[in-house]
Amino acid sequence: MSFQPHYWTDPMKEQFDIEIESILEVDGHFHIRINEKVAKPASGGQAGDRGFLLIGEKKYEFIDTILQNSHTALVMKNSPTSGKGKTILKLDMLWRKAMMANHTSEHILVGAMKKKYPELKLGKIWIDGTHGSVVLEGRTIPLQEVLEIEKEVNNLIHDSIDVKTKVVTADEVNDTVRAREGVTSKNDMIRLVNVGEFDSSACSGIHVTNTNDIQIFKIIDVKAQEENTHIEFVSGAIAARRLAEVYNVALTRKYSYPFEMEQLGAILDKSKTLQLAYDEAIEKLFQLMDEGPSKEKLNEVTFWHEYLPGFEVGTTRHLIKELELEVPSVTLFLSTGKKINIIVWTKGMPKDASHYISEIVESFGGRGGGSAESYTGGFSEVENPRELFLELIERVKERILE
Ligand SMILES: [Zn+2]
Repeated sequence: MSFQPHYWTDPMKEQFDIEIESILEVDGHFHIRINEKVAKPASGGQAGDRGFLLIGEKKYEFIDTILQNSHTALVMKNSPTSGKGKTILKLDMLWRKAMMANHTSEHILVGAMKKKYPELKLGKIWIDGTHGSVVLEGRTIPLQEVLEIEKEVNNLIHDSIDVKTKVVTADEVNDTVRAREGVTSKNDMIRLVNVGEFDSSACSGIHVTNTNDIQIFKIIDVKAQEENTHIEFVSGAIAARRLAEVYNVALTRKYSYPFEMEQLGAILDKSKTLQLAYDEAIEKLFQLMDEGPSKEKLNEVTFWHEYLPGFEVGTTRHLIKELELEVPSVTLFLSTGKKINIIVWTKGMPKDASHYISEIVESFGGRGGGSAESYTGGFSEVENPRELFLELIERVKERILE
């Protein structure tokens, strides 16, 4: 079938003898029209080929390939002055192979997604030699589900499945084939790309011939927008490099701050918690400098209460012992270090410290105990410690006023 471009049947051939048909200057670039369909033009969400022309001793780089009135044109920054003489076109095979891997990954990813969520529609896609992206329309897919499908895509890649193409007539295309709307009515002949038995899709792009050539598939971003899911991914050597980069960021810190790689998630969570506590501590510092300690008089009793973000229970206890407490007084400190702890200290009060706090702590799911003048308690799984603190204060106030 002579109408098939070269890159459909032999995508790994990298060098061709060609002829230049015309040179056109457009917006500071040059469009070099050539006589053979050997470089793939940008179309259908896939970037064009890159490479260079060799004319005599001189080398001219092209940065894109486009379709110009159904002719192939190379886009250049610097153009040869004339197209006379022997001209060799050499493709940038790193760019092309990366496109082939990214594009075939896209087929497998979308095929797997459609099997799991048949209602999904394929929206905009973009594939080039650095990465790929797809918009899946019709629903948002949770990250965990997307990552499950990533695993499936990698399994299919490692199954070494042959990717075969064939050109068929439009009426041979049934609904087991993924095709964009209108494809079969606009074209008499359709090119099918089959990833083994797994997926069949109408496509005019370039693909690897076996899934094993993709090596690795890695999703690098997932965004939910309205009813759509945007997925960005890389594959092959680029994916391997990206994975190594991320791994090494963790590895170079493994020894200065000892942790096991498996704990990376927990460490990130902890760093977020610490940052939050630090921000709160700064806020607390401002409040103390501005308003002084939070003390109020309840009849004769001084009630002093402070929220101490990031403090550990030992530090809080130490602090409270150092402070000069008025008589009579009730002092309540809530600390939010590794655990949420409460310390209540009384001076010259008619009842034991526990009387003012014990039942209240228990009513919020906490536990504690103490001696005559002090009580220490703790809570597990508090969602909003500051809110808890405010409620505790109110309840203790009522107790003091009883
Ligand atoms: Zn394709």
